[in-house]
Amino acid sequence: MNGVETADVIVVGGGPAGSACATALIRGGRKVIVLDKESFPRTKLCAGWVSPGVFQALGLDPAAYPAGLHTFDHLVVHAWGMTLPLRTRQYSVRRVEFDDYLLRRSNATVIRHDVREIARAGEGYLIDGAFHAPHVVGAGGTRCPVHRHLFRAYSPHNKTLQIAATELEFPFAWRDPRCHLWFFDHGLPGYAWYVPKAGGWLNLGVGALSEPLRQRGQNLHEHWERLVTRLGRLGMIDDRPLTAAGYSYFLRERSGPWQNGNAFLVGDAAGMATRDLGEGIGPAIRSGIAVAEGILHGQPAMLDDISPLSVDELLNGTRRVACRALLRLLGVAPRQLPQAA
Ligand SMILES: Cc1cc2nc3c(=O)[nH]c(=O)nc-3n(C[C@H](O)[C@H](O)[C@H](O)COP(=O)(O)OP(=O)(O)OC[C@H]3O[C@@H](n4cnc5c(N)ncnc54)[C@H](O)[C@@H]3O)c2cc1C
Repeated sequence: MNGVETADVIVVGGGPAGSACATALIRGGRKVIVLDKESFPRTKLCAGWVSPGVFQALGLDPAAYPAGLHTFDHLVVHAWGMTLPLRTRQYSVRRVEFDDYLLRRSNATVIRHDVREIARAGEGYLIDGAFHAPHVVGAGGTRCPVHRHLFRAYSPHNKTLQIAATELEFPFAWRDPRCHLWFFDHGLPGYAWYVPKAGGWLNLGVGALSEPLRQRGQNLHEHWERLVTRLGRLGMIDDRPLTAAGYSYFLRERSGPWQNGNAFLVGDAAGMATRDLGEGIGPAIRSGIAVAEGILHGQPAMLDDISPLSVDELLNGTRRVACRALLRLLGVAPRQLPQAA
């Protein structure tokens, strides 16, 4: 096709899902173009909490990660007036650095392009009349154009699983190096967080299921103000004015559909975030790799094995079993969702 860029696979979106998918495809010998509407490094609203399993999935030693990485020895969970310090090894990253690093590491051809139209063309897909490939992977986040054009009719996002989140990341000489999570405070159907980061950065935020929040006549702003007041009172922040910004995404619902012909969805575009903590980076990376493997081996995309629960990684033994049972009781972990191995 004249004037049309071609590849084996076009990945729409260069976040963790897209870069993980591109990395695996390129290692498997495929020519990949990643299209992203932003120029990297770009800002992504996110607390940037990552588990050791994320580095494992990436085949990356945390010690070899070249940008800022903060290690937590504790997650401090606050709920129903109780405080539970959980000993665990977890990390925080700055997404502006992490996503840029992963995308560069993929060695993909990255083109800045805001995808608007996707049409079936012959055996493949034509994007905005300018890019063609036999396979297209939608890794464009919540409002991914691949979902909009090729999936929406038979895979609409489930509004009852929509998370609204508001947050701010700012330079701050924090003193408490632990990650704090406040669950269900003042009827919040979600949690608020305090996530310190390397290099003197702090991320604060609040996330909740949108529908129950609306039904309770609440909004995120009032919970944000409550968090800031609480942290000020505890001496964990100073009295500078803090204004947060918002974003929404979808939690994991059920099996697929993640594939339509040779088009695929991964990460937030597929609604992969965990049901309990809304963790999206790990599921994005795992789904990107799983879809790449499906393409490389000519098999259907298999995302069922990716756990829909963060507790599967955070806890083990009886604590995991007990927590899963509690989540079922609360309706957070329905029975039809896949079980951890
Ligand atoms: C406030 C907040 C806090 C969070 N905290 C955490 C956390 O601590 N830990 C965690 O694991 N998860 C967290 N998440 C979830 C996590 O951020 C997402 O699940 C994750 O970023 C999904 O990655 P992705 O690659 O699917 O999408 P994204 O990271 O959103 O990447 C999508 C990419 O697609 C590009 N794109 C979009 N539209 C187009 C288009 N039309 N054309 C071309 N390119 C396009 C975008 O520019 C972007 O670069 C949080 C989310 C929010 C909102």
